[in-house]
Amino acid sequence: MSDTFKFSIPMKNDEEGFFGRECPNEECLGYFKIELGTGLQGEDLPCHCPYCGHVGPHDTFWTQDQLEYARSAAMREVQKYVGDMLKRTFPPSRPRRGDFISITFQYKPGRPLPLYRYEEKQLETALVCSECGLRYAVYGVFAHCPDCGSHNSLQILKANLDLASKELELSITVEGLLADQLVADALENGVSAFDAFGRESFRVNSGLATAPDEVARISCQNLESLKSRISKLFGIDLTTSFTVEEWRLLVQGFQKRHLIAHRMGVVDQAYISNSGDLRAVVGRKVDLDSKEVSVILLLVRRLGHHVQDALRAKRAEAS
Ligand SMILES: [Zn+2]
Ligand SMILES: [Zn+2]
Repeated sequence: MSDTFKFSIPMKNDEEGFFGRECPNEECLGYFKIELGTGLQGEDLPCHCPYCGHVGPHDTFWTQDQLEYARSAAMREVQKYVGDMLKRTFPPSRPRRGDFISITFQYKPGRPLPLYRYEEKQLETALVCSECGLRYAVYGVFAHCPDCGSHNSLQILKANLDLASKELELSITVEGLLADQLVADALENGVSAFDAFGRESFRVNSGLATAPDEVARISCQNLESLKSRISKLFGIDLTTSFTVEEWRLLVQGFQKRHLIAHRMGVVDQAYISNSGDLRAVVGRKVDLDSKEVSVILLLVRRLGHHVQDALRAKRAEAS
């Protein structure tokens, strides 16, 4: 028969207040950190892996370092307990005369067993969940919130659009080529941010697609082709949050970004056919001003919300 002993070992945060976690899913084993006390409040809430979305009880998310530390701390407790027990069972006594054989032994408590020491790892992105307020940190950028499980793709898109808007504000304070460059950069950054947002949003929802293998190949830089792809794969119409004129502006903005990124902003026939921009002339530089880009950034933000809401509705439908 064996007895089981239990110890409660207090665990510690790192200097930024974060607590390490490791996904127990064998194919993931992703490392991340959370700040306890922020986010959802309540007992026995599950933990969501920010990388693979695995959900399980918090006590299955210990890191290897934490387990090693707990083992070493427990061994110390055992050592202390054994020492105390020996002292209690065999109090020091003088040798007795008579019909006793005296056996003497000495117990010298040695140095305490070493405690395993570790540092939590440095991660790349610290985030505050916009849904539940949890502070957490991950490798990369995109993640599921470890507390409420919501994905941060829209939050990241909005942060990048805010940055692009700041570039526009900056462009007004300077002149000439530098101002033009800032306006063009703002448009490029807004479109790139939407591309990254879209790829990630459709990837994490690829289970809803009619052909999940095709989702990895989605590019979100050409809105008209994206529109037909998403309609085919997810049954989602990207245009329903926009007037015809707004959608046209958005499509044109994305086409202008393509010209700027690949043709130094010089108009070609493909641009005119794809954008329907009747004022553009082949061989001339495309028109772009900060007012137009500012409208496009607002429309991109709305498109991001539209994609998120539509995918959420599809998930609800599927469950
Ligand atoms: Zn995982
Ligand atoms: Zn959250």
